[in-house]
Amino acid sequence: MRRVDELILVKKYGINPEKIRFLLSGDVFLDVNQKAVIIEKLLEAKELAFLNLKKGNITRRAFGANIYCVSDSSSFWSIGTNFNNTRNDISSICAERSAIVNAYNNFLKQNIKEFKIKYIAMAQAVELSEIKDSIIPCEDCLSWFNTERFLDDNTVVFTFERQEEELIVKSIKLKELLPFKGVLTSNILAKDVIYSKKADELKNKIDAFKLIKKAQIAYEKNKLANISNQNITCTILTNKKIYTASKIDWTRRWFVEPLELAASKALENEKKLKIRAIAYFGDEIAKTDQGEFADNVVSIKSLGRIRQKWADNDTLLILNFEGCIQVITLSEYLPKKFIQGYKIV
Ligand SMILES: [Zn+2]
Repeated sequence: MRRVDELILVKKYGINPEKIRFLLSGDVFLDVNQKAVIIEKLLEAKELAFLNLKKGNITRRAFGANIYCVSDSSSFWSIGTNFNNTRNDISSICAERSAIVNAYNNFLKQNIKEFKIKYIAMAQAVELSEIKDSIIPCEDCLSWFNTERFLDDNTVVFTFERQEEELIVKSIKLKELLPFKGVLTSNILAKDVIYSKKADELKNKIDAFKLIKKAQIAYEKNKLANISNQNITCTILTNKKIYTASKIDWTRRWFVEPLELAASKALENEKKLKIRAIAYFGDEIAKTDQGEFADNVVSIKSLGRIRQKWADNDTLLILNFEGCIQVITLSEYLPKKFIQGYKIV
């Protein structure tokens, strides 16, 4: 990464980049020039977020993301802000995804074969003096990040954060947000059940094999995922009952997600719903006219929604991997919980 010709915003805000402390995760290393560029790009994202707020984004929340893309022969930055046409998720896009779309458009016009996103600098429409917590991508964005073509484990997310009185730049690697990124599940049911240490402490009379077996039986019966050819089923255990639901395709790309469907069934029957365990089963490899490719069985987007209500970090997640069924907690699968307003706990 070359130093940008002029650090316009760094100068405008009177920042000495050498005096800003970087809290870098693990093996991330940046030299002085690179740190200065990251600060400039964070400020650029912050200014775009303010413009978005000023011009009337309807949610009254505005964010900016500046992403650094590298190919074998070149590199480029692309910026984006959240776009909320209505409050429905289908007509909204976060800053990070907006920046990825922008990067893809830039990529098409360049004479390069591929690119990877190396850095994501995220900011919100909050004055530097008001910044408190750092921000991380929501679960909808993490669903995008859980794909392989443009993002790998080494992508680093940068944000501002205030520690005590000091404004710092904090980084988190994608691997820390998505520890299971790239790990495929299987549609051949394994026999052995392995609990993580944390899941073992919490399992309390949960028969993980029974739950995933129910999902597998539903999978064999499900004829409603025949348009996409990606069959997925989900079984949930609440304090009272077991509910199973199957993916329903409307078109090849539009479908009803089985976890949300199972939760809806449970909600109709239970007033104080508490989801104790979720078992997913299905086709991790989707077969399409264009060939076969990995397409996630576990919906990060739905887990994010369910964790907002009715499930929590300790809800068990039962997944069928090749050779063994693993039981982990929701927080082991998705370590950071997104809270509306970007307060992270
Ligand atoms: Zn998002």
